[in-house]
This record gives sequence, structure tokens and C-alpha cells, in this order.
Amino acid sequence: MDKKIKDIIEKLAECHSLSADEYKLLITERDEESAELLSIKADAVRREHYGTDIYIRGLIEISNICKNDCFYCGIRAGNKNCERYRLTEEEILSCCKEGYKLGIRTFVLQGGEDLHFTDAVLCNLIQQIKINHPDCAVTLSLGERSKDSYKALYDAGADRYLLRHETADSEHYSKLHPSAMSFETRMQCLHNLKDIGYQVGCGFMVGSPYQTVDNIVKDLQFIEAFQPDMCGIGPFIPHKDTPFASFEQGSVELTCYLLSIIRLICPSVLLPATTALGTIDKQGREKGILAGANVIMPNLSPESARSKYELYNGKLATGSEAAENILKIKNSIKKIGYRIVCARGDAKR
Ligand code: SAH
Repeated sequence: MDKKIKDIIEKLAECHSLSADEYKLLITERDEESAELLSIKADAVRREHYGTDIYIRGLIEISNICKNDCFYCGIRAGNKNCERYRLTEEEILSCCKEGYKLGIRTFVLQGGEDLHFTDAVLCNLIQQIKINHPDCAVTLSLGERSKDSYKALYDAGADRYLLRHETADSEHYSKLHPSAMSFETRMQCLHNLKDIGYQVGCGFMVGSPYQTVDNIVKDLQFIEAFQPDMCGIGPFIPHKDTPFASFEQGSVELTCYLLSIIRLICPSVLLPATTALGTIDKQGREKGILAGANVIMPNLSPESARSKYELYNGKLATGSEAAENILKIKNSIKKIGYRIVCARGDAKR
């Protein structure tokens, strides 16, 4: 490793900030040694804030019906081969009950932008979850909505919102999305969520089609400026029924490298080792945690829904991705020196 790169890593660990040129060098000149040093620094900073605790979130995929047509996503409106489903309120509440028994204290309701889920429907659902499990956090990941809608859901009891920015470069954004979707709207949504008081998560795919190093530098600069409470990054994985079917998948190595960098930019950020990472590498989740991640999101959806919520081909929902295998998950995390805790795991601001 070049002395220059070593100095950049030291600076990042100390100042949590770099110039665009420094981020770019850190990425383009990376090697095993720089990855190792970054992960050591990231691990130290994570231990300062969270010790060896790893938080679990139960992911409930409430609907794969979506009005949007994102070019990368398997549940895009234009995919006629996607078998659509929507969970009922009873099904969602029963997933939460199952999850609670397993020790899960955060429920993440994720889905396509399904117009069935009006504010009234969601507010009622959130209130029910909070009545049944007052000691749990509710995270929403339901895409773009108006500020009034976000506010209504927040007032009903939702604690957190995940909305990946997908890319911080507006030109790149327009290569990943149809013209009906805009970069400005996405950014406005993220700022609205923060204004309202949510713990907010942004994030992006690593190796998405047309992504350049300069795009990633912009993502890192955006994360530095936005200061999210959570940040979801995972490799892009192609889905056969999308316009991006023939693009290559993102790399585990770069994803882990970026996880370490993001941990150093935002020391107390809640950073998941994502399902996508676990899908393309058997040891992906463990590698993510070793790189600086401190959250995992096992799947709590009903068996029947899991294979239908196919964002990308081969998406894992069994084995260690399945919440019912919590013991297996606990053991695999313990083996690498960390421990799953039964806690809400709120952001430390
Ligand atoms: N409708 C919600 C949830 C989207 S799915 C929303 O808009 O936020 C959650 C995330 O999965 C997306 O934000 C995207 O970054 C990721 N994703 C979608 N398709 C993917 C693919 N082919 N490979 C990897 N990640 C993908």
C-alpha cells in the first residue's frame, strides 16, 4: 500500500471526511492491504459505539405490487412474469408475533409502491403493531410518498424510514430509472423524512449498470453531507426479466471496502450486511460484519411470499437469511467474534 493511501485512511478515521480526489484515490488504488487497514479502523470505531453488538431486523415484504418501473428491479411494474401478492393485515401482524418470539425488536415493512397501502391502511397497521409490541421499532421501506403522508405515518408510530438514494449523481439516476422518476424527488423525500424526525436510511447498489468511480465518490460525499442514521449498500445483482438482465453483478470485495469507508464517515451509522451480499457470497454477511456492518435483516415474510419478492435472481430467503433459523444466524455471528442482541437498536446521534 502506498504511503499516500495510508495517510488518506488515517485522515478519514480521524476527520470522517475526505476530498473528492482523496475518495477517488482510495477506491482506484485499493488493494488487500488498504482493505485490511480500513476494516481494522472501521472495526475499532464500531466497537467504540456498539461494542460487538449486532442488531437484527425482521424484514416483512408486504407487497410486490409496484407502480414504478426501475430498470434494475425484479418487481418493476413492467415485469409480466412476476407473480404478484399482497399480505393482509392479519398476515403482517402474525409475522410480527413470530418475529417477537424469535427476539426481534425491529420490524421492517418493505414493499413496492402499492397504491393499496394508503395512509389510512398503513397508519392502522402501524398502530396495531405498536399496540401488540410497544417495545419494538417500526421501520418503513415503501418508497416515495408525499411529506404529509410521511408525517401521518410518523405520527402513527413509525420510527424509521429506509429510502435508498440509489445514486447521488442525477445523470446516473436517469440511467437507472424511467423518466417518470426523478433524482430531485428522491432527494426531496430523504430531506422530508429527516425534517419530520424519522431515523433515516439512504443507500445505493455497488456495481449498478453505468456506475463510475466518480459516481461512487458522489455517493460517499452525499453520505458525508446527509449524515444518515442508517445506510444500506449491497451489490447489484441482475434479474432476468429486467432491462438490466445482461449486466454483470457488483463485487463483494468493493461492497465490503465501501462498508468500511462508510463506517469511518459516519461512526455511529447503522449499517446492514445486506441480503444481496449474502446472496452472491456464502460468507458475504460475515465479510460485511467484519468490514464494519452492525445490522442484519433476516427474512420474516410468510413462506409463500418469499420467492415472489424477487428483486434480483437467486435472492436468498432460506438458511441463515430466514428469521426462523435465528440459532444458525447467532452461531455464525458468534464464530466471527460478535453477538446478536435482542434490542431495538436505535441510531445513536
Ligand atoms: N419500493 C421500495 C423498496 C425497494 S427494494 C423503495 O423504493 O425504497 C429495496 C432496495 O433493493 C432498492 O432500494 C434497491 O437498491 C435494491 N434492489 C432492487 N433491485 C436490485 C437488484 N437487482 N440488485 C440489487 N439490489 C436491488
